[in-house]
Amino acid sequence: MAGIERFYPLFQPEHYDLFIDVNREQKTITGTTKIRGNASQAKIAVNQKDLQVSQVRANGNPVPFTTDDEAEAIRIELPAAGAVELELDYQAPLTDTMMGIYPSYYEVAGEKKQVVGTQFETTFARQAFPSIDEPEAKATFSLALKFDEHPGETVLANMPEERVENGVHYFAQTLKMSTYLVAFAFGDLQSKMTTTKSGVEVGVFATKAHQPKELDFALDIAKRAIEFYEDFYQTPYPLPHSWQLALPDFSAGAMENWGLITYREALLLLDPDNTPLETKEVVATVITHELAHQWFGDLVTMKWWDDLWLNESFANMMEYVAVDALQPDWHVWEMFQTSEVPMALSRDATDGVQSVHVAVNNPAEIDALFDGAIVYAKGARMLVMVRALLGDDALRKGLRQYFVAHQYGNAEGKDLWQALGDASGLEIGKIMNSWLEQPGYPVVSATVTDDGQLTLRQQQFFIGGGTDKGRQWQIPLDSNYAAAPQIMDKPELKLGDYKSLRKQAGIPFRVNVGNNSHVVVQYDPELLADILEDVETLTPIDQRQILQDLRLLASAQRIDYARLIPLLQQFAESESAIVNAELYAVANSLKMFVTPGSPAEQELREFFGKLVQANVNRLGLLPRTGESNDDQKVRPIVFNAALYAQLPDIIEQAHTIFTDHHAGLVSLPADVRALILKNEVQNYGSADLFDQLLTDYTTTNDVNYREDLAAAVPNVADPQLAERLVSQFKNADVIKPQDLRAWYRGLLANELNQQVAWDWIRNNWDWLEATVGGDMEFATFITVTARIFHTPERLAEFKAFFEPKLETPGLEREIKMDTRTISGKVDLIAGEQAAVLKELTRNV
Ligand SMILES: [Zn+2]
Repeated sequence: MAGIERFYPLFQPEHYDLFIDVNREQKTITGTTKIRGNASQAKIAVNQKDLQVSQVRANGNPVPFTTDDEAEAIRIELPAAGAVELELDYQAPLTDTMMGIYPSYYEVAGEKKQVVGTQFETTFARQAFPSIDEPEAKATFSLALKFDEHPGETVLANMPEERVENGVHYFAQTLKMSTYLVAFAFGDLQSKMTTTKSGVEVGVFATKAHQPKELDFALDIAKRAIEFYEDFYQTPYPLPHSWQLALPDFSAGAMENWGLITYREALLLLDPDNTPLETKEVVATVITHELAHQWFGDLVTMKWWDDLWLNESFANMMEYVAVDALQPDWHVWEMFQTSEVPMALSRDATDGVQSVHVAVNNPAEIDALFDGAIVYAKGARMLVMVRALLGDDALRKGLRQYFVAHQYGNAEGKDLWQALGDASGLEIGKIMNSWLEQPGYPVVSATVTDDGQLTLRQQQFFIGGGTDKGRQWQIPLDSNYAAAPQIMDKPELKLGDYKSLRKQAGIPFRVNVGNNSHVVVQYDPELLADILEDVETLTPIDQRQILQDLRLLASAQRIDYARLIPLLQQFAESESAIVNAELYAVANSLKMFVTPGSPAEQELREFFGKLVQANVNRLGLLPRTGESNDDQKVRPIVFNAALYAQLPDIIEQAHTIFTDHHAGLVSLPADVRALILKNEVQNYGSADLFDQLLTDYTTTNDVNYREDLAAAVPNVADPQLAERLVSQFKNADVIKPQDLRAWYRGLLANELNQQVAWDWIRNNWDWLEATVGGDMEFATFITVTARIFHTPERLAEFKAFFEPKLETPGLEREIKMDTRTISGKVDLIAGEQAAVLKELTRNV
């Protein structure tokens, strides 16, 4: 495949006049783009994809041009280099790909409707208008938009509308910005508005399929988040408004278009009266993530896609910083520990993983960059390390300098390190480059050596094997012993005589207290026993970390997997949500060691029954008013485990709750709704129930209820129903392509239905590629498959199917890593199964 040709050096746009006419009925886009700029040479090119350009004029005169689809461009011959105004007339089809300009489909009171929106990141602006579609090519934009308009429709863009003339909507000229952040939308929308202290207009927009109250939560968070960032960054929000728009069809989670942020409906809208706290936290972090980008990403933008991490890592850290400031009672950094941290630690332990900063060699690799576990989660962990080293005062001072130096322009990683280094006096770049430029992370081994010395060593950590290339990291140690330095920058450190250090400190030795450093810690048995003795006195984050590190070490076969089993009982009465989340992550991982239907599986179910007892008895199945945040979150975790345990009284109780709400299932308490439905589908399933739930799925406008249904229905126990379910996978009227992965994954995770799901994806791969292949989430269909498979048979089938696809642009790394993920589990099970099953028998 051809490398990426960059056109900005040839032609530097200053201003675009965009005229775009969208016809929903005829499914066409017609446009004229005027670009004023400077041509460095006479032969230039501008990006386009799937545009039929009929004429190109330079300073009013037609000039010769050729279309180069391979380079996603048209090549233009100007009479001479220098200042020029280009004018291009074009047409394009309006397609349903969720890229470029695209319609979203929904129904209100039985009437099918459309709202049109845009998605230009990464390289899809070129599908909407000819442009130098590179982040560095910042320019101003004046948009004139026409469409087959119906009375009462709303039209939105990056900037406020200035006037309407002859059905054309003219918007104020933007500030200098990148093409991928341009956005507009129109349709029959409702909205809620407010204004920040500094006078920024904030709005939330959604289709009228939703109840007005579903917009309230987002409006409150968005307003307060903008106020928070204006203060934290010491830099005003740069635009007159900040619109948040929920689109019924949306491929990613949300998109930070400057002034017009677009969201998946389930990540913006919620029923304030019946939504789990955890969902509120997720929605809040998505909003604060996108709003963090309005400065970091939009005002200052990465120079090229290889520095995507600069945008995403930063926004992924700031989303937590902001929510923690807005809702301190949520302890949202605990959620960071359950979402970002384990995701980064498991993926980054697989050999072949990309580094956070990575070169981009061909266009398909741009989309492959959006690896949630690396660019987002690991990157955020890196910045959390930076923040811990710097403190907030220096961080804020450095950020302000960074914004002042680079606003309306572009930056690279080194520019951020420079600004933060200047503000703190620390050599941030030197420390961070070991994390940024190298894939993977270290295991820090803490041992008492034969001479009695407390010794630390670092070495790259692999799950599923890997080649040790001698990589070393600069590790913030965060030890509770003063003898440990702030940064470990050597392969080995001797901290002194263990006995005297232990006596002096009076507490067990630990490193990575608070779990901010991106490492796994392996204590020798003596040191570990010392910690475990009083493990209850540690913070929930630290308790969770101990369990999590042991799970990872066991997955890497550095300790016995069976060792985890008695440990689980030690934590089983914990009332902390994040400890329970990890406890059941470990417990669930034991499922791969038991064959479905075997006596060993029965023992594992019994073991689950013992684990859940204390918390299930304490909490019951239904939420109670006034209970703690932890109790709200622990309940669904232990409820789900109790269903696996097949506890008869739990199954019956859940069935009774279902029956009480049969007339309106949406009114089930949302905290446990998915589990009540799952229990019903699994244990009381019928074709009638299946039909009812699928009908609810297609007709309800409550987005959280929809997600609960998608989580529950794939648990059907009747193979015929599973077949009926996959027969709807290609029917966008039932399951939208954006939601398909969740359904596929759900079916695949259920042993009974795994074959049906696996056959479906293999038989329909071409359709899948044609439908969602162009977007950045496509490869995750492979990822979710590999997370579930763990037998030699599935490994062989996986390889047989995916290895011939290694050449598909953007899929190579994913297929190789996922193959390693499965083969790692196959090896692990072969090596540890006998001991795990023996230990299980001992513990039931
Ligand atoms: Zn982002």
